Amino acid sequence: MAYILPHIMEMPSYQSGKQPADQRAIKLNLNENPFPPSKRVFEALQSIQVDSLKRYPDQLCQELCEEIAKQNFVKAEQVFCGNGSSEIISLLFTVFIGAQGRIALPDPTFSLYENVAARFQVECVKIPTREDYAIDLNSLIKTNADAIILVNPNAPTGLLLPSSDIEYLVCHYSGLIVIDEAYIDFADPKNSAVPLIHQYDNVIVLRTFSKVFSLSGIRIGYCFSNPQFIAALEKSKNLYHVNTISQQLALAALKDKEYLNTTINRIKQIRDRFSARLKELGFTVLPSETNFILCTPPSHVNKTAKELYEAFIQRNIYVRYFDSPRLKDKLRISVGTEEEMEILFNVVCSIIKEGK
Ligand SMILES: *Cc1c(COP(=O)(O)O)cnc(C)c1O
Repeated sequence: MAYILPHIMEMPSYQSGKQPADQRAIKLNLNENPFPPSKRVFEALQSIQVDSLKRYPDQLCQELCEEIAKQNFVKAEQVFCGNGSSEIISLLFTVFIGAQGRIALPDPTFSLYENVAARFQVECVKIPTREDYAIDLNSLIKTNADAIILVNPNAPTGLLLPSSDIEYLVCHYSGLIVIDEAYIDFADPKNSAVPLIHQYDNVIVLRTFSKVFSLSGIRIGYCFSNPQFIAALEKSKNLYHVNTISQQLALAALKDKEYLNTTINRIKQIRDRFSARLKELGFTVLPSETNFILCTPPSHVNKTAKELYEAFIQRNIYVRYFDSPRLKDKLRISVGTEEEMEILFNVVCSIIKEGK
């Protein structure tokens, strides 16, 4: 007897980067922030009263929503917090798209969307990006899908779509528009789509604490939209989905703007320097506005991207390799600390020498 539904049986598992057990491994494969969270997070963690944990958390994450609202010039009823933006992504399908719906998204992009679509029996219309990985907005609009999903800056390309293009999209498309801004703080925040939620009632903007705030482990994401959409998300979520500890730690992180800006600038500096050095070695590097780079090794390395990826693992360095037509000659490398990138760079140089 078949217990598991056929579409779940057929669905591939989400392919995530490896989490090596070895603590000394250099992990540049999940776009995590290499720097620790703010000291304020540490203090907040220490000040948590164990006794307070006998109570359920605040269902609405009110304090957190209010602080997020204040910092982004919106009202608290325009903010929803979830258990990672991954939870919010699932909720979008529950609330807005539904089984048998259709979504359109560029290819390549963050593959979780396709995975969740399969779970909800939603059709994914994938519109190839141009040769330079620029997003083909008109083709996305022409699909007439129920929703268009844009990751901005896009992953794994790192390319930013300027706000003028997003404005073009909202003017020409009346379906749901989801803009996933997991990496927007690494770009010029002037390109954020958040202000559009005041003028357009079909826009949802996603953010997360996982990347810029160095808090992947606490699982909090949030989104901005109109109050009706936010209320619909609230109604549809699981009970008490964001735990008490995470809510307090996220709030503490938000209040340390100075640390946030310092780490972002540091990561951008490391990224730009590492990109420039790879280019000197002959790599092609897409101009990233995120905390990762997508690069193509030159032929004189005498190794394919996949072989390089494996050679790095031999040296306890983990980057990301995607075995798909548009990405199979490339590596996605998250920006680590100065020391980590120095080690990686030296490994690349020694592999090139060996090949000669
Ligand atoms: C990392 C990432 C997320 C974050 O997901 P969380 O569940 O909040 O950790 C969301 N969208 C994109 C495009 C990402 O790269």
